[in-house]
Amino acid sequence: MKLSQRITHLTEGGSDGWDVFYRARQMISDGYAVTELTIGEHDIRTDASILEAMDLSARQGHTGYAMVPGTDLLRDTVAARLRARTGIPTTRNNVLITPGGQSALFAAHVAVCDPGDVGLYLDPYYATYPGTIRGAGAVARSIQTTAENAFQPRAEQIEAAADGAVSLLVNTPNNPTGVVYSRQTLEGIAEVCRQRDLWLISDEVYDTQVWEGEHISPRTLPDMAERTLVVGSMSKSHAMTGSRCGWIVGPEEVISHLINLATNTTYGVPGFIQDAASFALNAGNDLEEQIAEPFRRRRALAVGILDAQNTIEMVPAQGAMYLMLDIRATGLSGDEFANALLDSHAIAVMPGESFGSAAAGHIRVAMTIDDERFASALSTICTFAAELAEHHAVVS
Ligand code: PMP
Repeated sequence: MKLSQRITHLTEGGSDGWDVFYRARQMISDGYAVTELTIGEHDIRTDASILEAMDLSARQGHTGYAMVPGTDLLRDTVAARLRARTGIPTTRNNVLITPGGQSALFAAHVAVCDPGDVGLYLDPYYATYPGTIRGAGAVARSIQTTAENAFQPRAEQIEAAADGAVSLLVNTPNNPTGVVYSRQTLEGIAEVCRQRDLWLISDEVYDTQVWEGEHISPRTLPDMAERTLVVGSMSKSHAMTGSRCGWIVGPEEVISHLINLATNTTYGVPGFIQDAASFALNAGNDLEEQIAEPFRRRRALAVGILDAQNTIEMVPAQGAMYLMLDIRATGLSGDEFANALLDSHAIAVMPGESFGSAAAGHIRVAMTIDDERFASALSTICTFAAELAEHHAVVS
């Protein structure tokens, strides 16, 4: 039987740059002790207080269908959070609760892209982006950012790619680069969106993990609230990846249509999960800071380790739970380096190439293991890179 183009072309096929990830997984299931620095998942579990709120809600009967747009309580809580963080007027009518940020990214593209429209995204990119855009029926077009500009996109690059485009997807703090977009970068992005009449889909799921500079939501820039769809999530801020709870914040008209989409796709998010999320968001900043703290600490450790060597260059690690390391001095691609590192030291990292071509010659290191093992693995990576670089200098 014939399958739809949309489903068969969702991924581009092949496993470019992901081989090392699957090899590490296989080694682990074969019983090898692999230091796993590939995936963006906390090394702590959801806080007990949040689980208690979830348990209480479920026991009180919030296990039936919940309101499709989200409970009033959670929509109000998310709206209040955005008002407090941005000063932009936001009510529950601007909020749709979704099963995680990923589903919000998909819904946002469905809301603004017609079949065949171009959806822009920036390379390097979070692995699902092109598939999400294609899944929504649009044509995914990437824009290369450069290591030389710390992977901050320039307005003229976006402008040059904008023909036929209806949307631009951005992510700050950024996965995989760890970069936080500057006000200047965001103003450039906003300017192109206004000029070329683009929707801006702003993935802000790492907004509580900022180590340097400040997180600026582009929705706050002049005339941007009317054309920006903010994607948020409980996954990273509250270590609730498995709870699948996120949101889209945007203009009321868009949200009203997105509620129809939710009615016909997800049919909402479990009530006890939403109650747990409301509890967690109302628990205030301390809880969020507590969850971000291990990454802040490890990022500081990493800066110390990397400052003491001169083979690897670190892309400024300003936010999110990753380090993007430039290993081009070794003469290897990110893919070759990651495979060699796994073979020789049983340390698994992601090749930059798995996030597009702009991060070729880089590796992404997730800061998701305890401090001591993290520091030790990073030191090993540095020594390994230095040896390779020395060999490379001799042979070339
Ligand atoms: N955006 C980015 C940049 C991510 O890294 C992730 C998860 N790794 C998501 C969105 C989706 O997160 P979730 O669906 O768990 O909210």
